[in-house]
Amino acid sequence: MELLLLPPKPVVRPPCYAPRRRSRRRTSPLMASLSTRQHSLAERPLRYAVLGAGFAGLSVAWHLLRHSPEELHLRVDIYDESGIGGGASGIAGGLLHPYSPKVKLLWQGAECWKECLKLLKIAERVVHKRNSNPQNVKLEWNLGDSIIRRRGILRPAMDAKHLDTLTNNAQNCLPFCKIESIDKDAAEALVPNMKVPFNSVFHMPEAVNIHPLCYLQALFLACQDLVEEMSTSSFGGKELYMHRKSIDRLCDFEGEYDAVIVCLGAKADLLSELSGRLPLRTCRGVIAHLQLPDNSGDPRIYL
Ligand SMILES: Cc1cc2nc3c(=O)[nH]c(=O)nc-3n(C[C@H](O)[C@H](O)[C@H](O)COP(=O)(O)OP(=O)(O)OC[C@H]3O[C@@H](n4cnc5c(N)ncnc54)[C@H](O)[C@@H]3O)c2cc1C
Repeated sequence: MELLLLPPKPVVRPPCYAPRRRSRRRTSPLMASLSTRQHSLAERPLRYAVLGAGFAGLSVAWHLLRHSPEELHLRVDIYDESGIGGGASGIAGGLLHPYSPKVKLLWQGAECWKECLKLLKIAERVVHKRNSNPQNVKLEWNLGDSIIRRRGILRPAMDAKHLDTLTNNAQNCLPFCKIESIDKDAAEALVPNMKVPFNSVFHMPEAVNIHPLCYLQALFLACQDLVEEMSTSSFGGKELYMHRKSIDRLCDFEGEYDAVIVCLGAKADLLSELSGRLPLRTCRGVIAHLQLPDNSGDPRIYL
């Protein structure tokens, strides 16, 4: 993710959402300094463009809105050529834990894990709120319990060398996202009929599996709700817009925005200003489409 600060130009104050109610919020030092440094609140909103509506972009939009000072008139524009979850986020497997495939704790793993869980709660809450209020239009997707599956994740050791690596790495696991070594029988009790090649399996009981698209759509709804909640006529007002548009060059935004935050995932490198300048290394992902045979009476899938 790249943060680019652009020189602001005066713009006409755009319309705000109708006022709802005030709430006391803590202001981060970054947002506080931006609010005082950058502009006269009465004249124009602080405008941010967030490029990309995947995990990174929507999380950035949420945090900009959530942590901006109450009195700040803030406008966030999200741009994505394919809409919410149009990139890798929308097709990800949704396995969520703070470890690498070899169960090594990732850089900033503890902090990221805690933040992920907070965002998941926010997404779950908005779905629950929408579905439980009869006055709300029911969500078109049946999200109910399906955003998150809290059933843990298993990682089997494939051979003796792999077992050594996993055992070493697992020793540095987080107390709030444990990695336990279990045997074949215990693993098969968790996933009936699962066949593992070696008698040692690493179990992360607190790891979760999310439905990426449902999560992203719920997080976007949460952003919209936050905008409504934080908008008051006497205070700054918050605005959020989603634009379905392909972006080729950052200079098209010059003068329009106070900052442009690039969350274009693997495609960030295609922007003309960033091309060849980012230390990005792409890797290959594999997507398997599984289909049950028509005559299968058994709804379980075994891998
Ligand atoms: C098959 C697969 C499975 C995966 N499984 C997992 C998993 O189980 N667990 C896990 O943690 N990670 C997984 N990942 C990795 C994870 O999906 C990515 O790290 C994550 O989605 C990156 O999010 P992002 O928001 O940075 O990028 P993206 O999700 O790619 O978002 C970028 C957005 O920018 C938009 N965009 C791009 N270029 C432009 C442009 N020029 N103009 C306008 N819009 C543009 C795209 O449409 C897209 O919506 C998987 C990845 C793949 C490919």
